[in-house]
Amino acid sequence: MLTARATPLTMLPLIVADELPPIKEQSAMVIVMKHHASAEEIGRVVSHIEEMGFKAHLSPGEERTIIGVIGDERALEPENFSMLDGVERCMRILHPFKLASRDFHPDDSIIRINGVAFGTKTIPIIAGPCSIESREQLMESVHAVKEAGAKLLRAGAYKPRTSPYSFQGLGLKGLELLREAKEKYGLPTVTEVMSPTDVSLVAQYADVLQIGARNMQNFALLHAVGETQKPVLLKRGLMATIEELIMAAEYILSHGNHRVLLCERGIRTYETATRNTFDINAIPVLKQMTHLPVIADPSHGTGKWDLVTPIARGAVAAGADGLIVEVHPNPAKALSDGGQSLKPEKFAQMVKEVRRIAEAVGRTV
Ligand code: PEP
Ligand code: MN
Repeated sequence: MLTARATPLTMLPLIVADELPPIKEQSAMVIVMKHHASAEEIGRVVSHIEEMGFKAHLSPGEERTIIGVIGDERALEPENFSMLDGVERCMRILHPFKLASRDFHPDDSIIRINGVAFGTKTIPIIAGPCSIESREQLMESVHAVKEAGAKLLRAGAYKPRTSPYSFQGLGLKGLELLREAKEKYGLPTVTEVMSPTDVSLVAQYADVLQIGARNMQNFALLHAVGETQKPVLLKRGLMATIEELIMAAEYILSHGNHRVLLCERGIRTYETATRNTFDINAIPVLKQMTHLPVIADPSHGTGKWDLVTPIARGAVAAGADGLIVEVHPNPAKALSDGGQSLKPEKFAQMVKEVRRIAEAVGRTV
């Protein structure tokens, strides 16, 4: 029996959710029919669902009919149904990602890199210069960050610079220096790879492949690193939503590489006081939505060296599983990101401070 008063739409999915069968047979989507949808229109939607290989679950309400599309199928798009006659709107129930979700893997994933584990109670710190500039600069950096307690060395050989006239990185020479630093100091290394054709080369020199913010949705690159077995540090894009970051991780996972570290590194907002806005919300949100370790980058997240320690403290308090921090022996002479790089002694102080925060939240650094 149809009445003039519409049921508030926000109530509708709940009614259906109570009736849903368990996980494998879950509704992928809910279709809300218009108030006056005819029996023929409802019938055509049901046939369309069945033709697409799904089951339809009808909830004929007093005022309108709701149809659940049953099947664990994330490829389904609301647009597949929203243009049909009599349909008011369609809503996805399942996340569009699968392998990254806690439905697939309820416990935290632990990613081990040469004996250093991410995703446990211990929070490893990755540190080093933005770019590899010279042997002396790299060795001085790794010596300092290791002394202060860093567990991995970061340093870029291929740099994604806004200007083609800025320092672009030492390329292969930089990778060779990175290997030398690892051999000398024993810290596993993280470095950025910018092109699918460089993946196998960079994988021969580094322990973790970094996908930079500007390449978060470079699907050919995600595919290429997904085919390696190297851990990947995937940085959130400058304008990417949390869901888009997880979908980028899903690309890597779906190509068979399950060792992905997600990295919040700040997003672009209307705020101009800082280079980026570090999205502290992303840390607990990512921890709820996925099982992957979450790394915080307070260097790019703020763009200012004197904000790095406070934001590192906040990130650890919010549940980060690791930190990645830029450290340079002489930031004033750095060829990239000097303004956000900590001097070695400031980094050592930062480690002490985050250690105290970690202890306060039942973790260690
Ligand atoms: C970097 O780590 O130096 C870097 C370029 O980071 P992002 O991609 O987050 O800007
Ligand atoms: Mn940098």
